[in-house]
Amino acid sequence: MAPGDPQGFPLCVLTVHAHPDDEASKGAPTLARYHAEGVRTVLVCCTGGEEGELHNPSLREPGQPFHGLEPEQERALLAELRPLELARSAEVIGFDEVVMLGYRDSGMKDSPANEDPASFHQADFDEAVGRLVEVIRRTRPQVIITYNDDQQGYPHPDHLKVHDISVPAFDRAGDPDWYPDLGPPWQPSKLYYTVWSRRRLLAVHEALLALRGASPFDEAWFERPDQDGRITTQVPVGDHMWARSGALRAHATQVDPSEAFWFGLSDQELADVYPYEDWILARSVVGEPGPGELEDDLFAGVRVSVRQ
Ligand SMILES: [Zn+2]
Repeated sequence: MAPGDPQGFPLCVLTVHAHPDDEASKGAPTLARYHAEGVRTVLVCCTGGEEGELHNPSLREPGQPFHGLEPEQERALLAELRPLELARSAEVIGFDEVVMLGYRDSGMKDSPANEDPASFHQADFDEAVGRLVEVIRRTRPQVIITYNDDQQGYPHPDHLKVHDISVPAFDRAGDPDWYPDLGPPWQPSKLYYTVWSRRRLLAVHEALLALRGASPFDEAWFERPDQDGRITTQVPVGDHMWARSGALRAHATQVDPSEAFWFGLSDQELADVYPYEDWILARSVVGEPGPGELEDDLFAGVRVSVRQ
């Protein structure tokens, strides 16, 4: 039987991302783990990634799909391939449902795409929150995952907006006064932030030096502001690292399979070095871990314990 909450609703986790491929690089093993356990998994992708470029130069080699294309043709082919890559990635990870929120990629900070009226960056705030509220009310997740409030390391306008709409959506979804036409209220129980985990990066960096003699992570990486003290939750994912590598490979136009940044360690080596994903519990209506305590389950406090 599918795991449920005390009210008898099946457990569901909904994760909000900005672009196709973000679901692969952030949290894929955690989502794969919950899917394998029978928890319903929902991906909300806010934009179509229309501003993405080809990041895998090997696809321009003879015999490859991007060989000899003009920039315009390259963009057209990317637009055609990225939804297919997302579908494949979601299949690898085990998402039960993928919802496109329907906005256009805003591009990097200060690029012309920021000004496009169809862009996520330009989207009316309450309307964008409403689109997410509608998905939350329909899919009834107890757990929502979104981006951190602190994104100094990668301040992409779409990533900032993912955070900015998710926090009010968490509150408004359960408030009958907001968006009365968008379905019956549903109050999620916990809101998590992704976190740039310094201790994970350090473990990977040291393993790369020891096993490969080189690491792509230079000083600049370790000068990024440390948020490890905010981590509340460490989900064991050593058996699900394949979801990360498989999903990343599914995004063949976005991820260079020869890059040590992504693939320097094998799944097994990663599992040996740091078999967790770290999360920050940002909001909870069901209590939180005490000082110095770490949760190991996003559904802690929500899950009905199964009688053996
Ligand atoms: Zn992104």
